[in-house]
Amino acid sequence: NTPLHELDPDVAAAVDAELDRQQSTLEMIASENFAPVAVMEAQGSVLTNKYAEGYPGRRYYGGCEHVDVVEQIAIDRVKALFGAEHANVQPHSGAQANAAAMFALLKPGDTIMGLNLAHGGHLTHGMKINFSGKLYNVVPYHVGDDGQVDMAEVERLAKESKPKLIVAGWSAYPRQLDFAAFRKVADEVGAYLMVDMAHFAGLVAAGLHPNPVPHAHVVTTTTHKTLGGPRGGVILSTAELAKKINSAVFPGQQGGPLEHVVAAKAVAFKVAASEDFKERQRRTLEGARILAERLVKDDARAAGVSVLTGGTDVHLVLVDLRDSELDGQQAEDRLHEVGITVNRNAVPNDPRPPMVTSGLRIGTPALATRGFTAEDFAEVADVIAEALKPSYDAEALKARVKALADKHPLYPGLNK
Ligand code: PLP
Repeated sequence: NTPLHELDPDVAAAVDAELDRQQSTLEMIASENFAPVAVMEAQGSVLTNKYAEGYPGRRYYGGCEHVDVVEQIAIDRVKALFGAEHANVQPHSGAQANAAAMFALLKPGDTIMGLNLAHGGHLTHGMKINFSGKLYNVVPYHVGDDGQVDMAEVERLAKESKPKLIVAGWSAYPRQLDFAAFRKVADEVGAYLMVDMAHFAGLVAAGLHPNPVPHAHVVTTTTHKTLGGPRGGVILSTAELAKKINSAVFPGQQGGPLEHVVAAKAVAFKVAASEDFKERQRRTLEGARILAERLVKDDARAAGVSVLTGGTDVHLVLVDLRDSELDGQQAEDRLHEVGITVNRNAVPNDPRPPMVTSGLRIGTPALATRGFTAEDFAEVADVIAEALKPSYDAEALKARVKALADKHPLYPGLNK
């Protein structure tokens, strides 16, 4: 029972340094969040020791009576949260959830449609060297000149290519998708509709974003982005597809489930049904709106900075730097220098290479979890706008970031 700091000081030191980084900087990577201590406690529990291949009540190992309880709680809670007929809580990640959902519904060589990666889609929606691009025939759709998904193109491509599956979902897109319109197209060509709500699941749980579940055959998600739980994935589906989905996850794609993570997912689903969670998602959206408004003001425009689609309906803003002196890499580095963590991101038809890019993706979920108010988000937005100008006072901006971090302590009591 030797504690980590004694047994392995090297790993302990890196964990401590990461805690310090999270506490002292402002986390604005749109896909990140801070899991509650109770979620981390469940994830760090003895459930990590248990093999439980199979599903509650139908396991291939003995001694599963307690993990059965945990997994059933997770299933019941996530079904209630999103109004789904069936849930599989075992996927180890979002990518695994998507792989299993596709494995359930498709055969190698089948045609799928997904949002092009460079236009905001995810790797698993058909990127060339991802499993999805290697196993399936991919017909990508795109955003139009206004930066929004072009539903006329989706319909045209679907009629031409007759896909077996259409994926609606995104990793970098600042607007809501029209799930009913996607379903209409899918029905017209006899395709399944799969919605990947990994990014916006927390907003859906809070009732602040349309719910894809009534429209889609299958909905996949991660549990660690806006949803604020442990790293992991979930598949929701109609009752009709339940058997196919379950057997695609196990034994199709995975072996033993991570029951410690399943326990942490269950805790996160309980939190996500609370009033506090709704209030946090409201601040998440408000923060993103404030950020978008600040980054289209005259001084930002004068610095060549603007915002794709002119604003946002979700938890992130896509900054367009095509007219700026700074490329995505330089802008990411500037913000890192003053203590704000974001990621560079390609804009549609980006003139710069993917490792450089001409954009930034900036999200508000983690800071909202930290307790940031509209006033705090206005201050962060101002710091970002100042940092992206041709000349900037790094020391002054660092001090403003530190004041915000100090105002909202993260994980007090966790430091060793
Ligand atoms: N789906 C979408 C839309 C995502 O944005 C991501 C992650 O960024 C994933 C799936 C994959 O999730 P994971 O990183 O847990 O595999």
